[in-house]
Amino acid sequence: MKSLNSIKKNKVDHTLHVHNKLLEIKNVKKYFPIKGGVLKRTVGQLKAVDDISFTIFKGETLGIVGESGSGKSTLGRTILRLTDPTEGKILFHGIDLAKLNQNQVRPYRKNMQIVFQDPFASLNSKMSVQQLVEEPLIVQGRLPKHERKKKVYDIIEKVGLRSSDVQKYPHEFSGGQRQRISIARALVMKPNFVICDEPVSALDVSIQSQVLNLMKDLQDELQLTYLFIAHDLSVVKHISDRVAVMYLGRFVELTTKKSLYQNPLHPYTQALLSSIPTIHIHPGQKEKREKIILKGDLPSPTNPPSGCAFHTRCPYAFKKCFEQRPQLQMVEKDHYVACHLYNPK
Ligand code: SF4
Repeated sequence: MKSLNSIKKNKVDHTLHVHNKLLEIKNVKKYFPIKGGVLKRTVGQLKAVDDISFTIFKGETLGIVGESGSGKSTLGRTILRLTDPTEGKILFHGIDLAKLNQNQVRPYRKNMQIVFQDPFASLNSKMSVQQLVEEPLIVQGRLPKHERKKKVYDIIEKVGLRSSDVQKYPHEFSGGQRQRISIARALVMKPNFVICDEPVSALDVSIQSQVLNLMKDLQDELQLTYLFIAHDLSVVKHISDRVAVMYLGRFVELTTKKSLYQNPLHPYTQALLSSIPTIHIHPGQKEKREKIILKGDLPSPTNPPSGCAFHTRCPYAFKKCFEQRPQLQMVEKDHYVACHLYNPK
């Protein structure tokens, strides 16, 4: 993925700033009931997010990577209370959003925004750029029209569009430009936390680096904290300070970007990394990894395997893996892994 290598290095080393907690996720679960029979009774649960805990620090980018169906987008939507958690705490600036009703959550939404994957589907084609970007400000209902207009022009310029673009409609733009409009819409409220849900997956590879560079620049300028969701480890690598790998609703590994790419410990992470043809460890240095082919597909979250949910595909599975679910635990400094290989007894 040559063009992604042109992504700028972080101007600021965000790992130096990661002292203040912005968001604490504690034992969050999101189960969807499965209905069956004539009476549509609940006959099972789809465990999209299954007991996840982690912290996001101010100014950092935490990447979350997993296959389609791993639960990463549901986790993002649950944190924003776009869907209600089944259990757990979502502490934002110390306030548990999980306990609030939708009216009570609304004031916090201003500070927590989301950029969706598909800029074609997420923008109403009947609204002009002006209307699309102004809409969140109107919903908030505090600013007079001339101030809203100024904010729209300011943010449109910041995302690299022209002021003359505000009168145009989404179909008049390319995919990359539409994603810039989506970013403007998310940032016009001056949030301090943004969930980026596969924001470049629908874009051509040649455009991806432009949008990622824009997001990095905006992060530095506006002091944003990102939760960056992707299915592709090579995309997450370029923007994240830390990375979590998700499998069937749970984190299997969580560590700094450097540790994850240089020293992946979980067999699933190792397999994902091996599918990237060339890993650039340092400028000019390349490391080739032996490709690990995973057996089978992701099992269904309605009926996950017993013990370690990865045992059906893991080349190292042993007896304990079939019987006990491994917990995420620190096995090296700042390096958390859920795997019995690191605690075999
Ligand atoms: Fe593989 Fe066992 Fe580790 Fe799961 S716990 S990843 S099955 S070795």
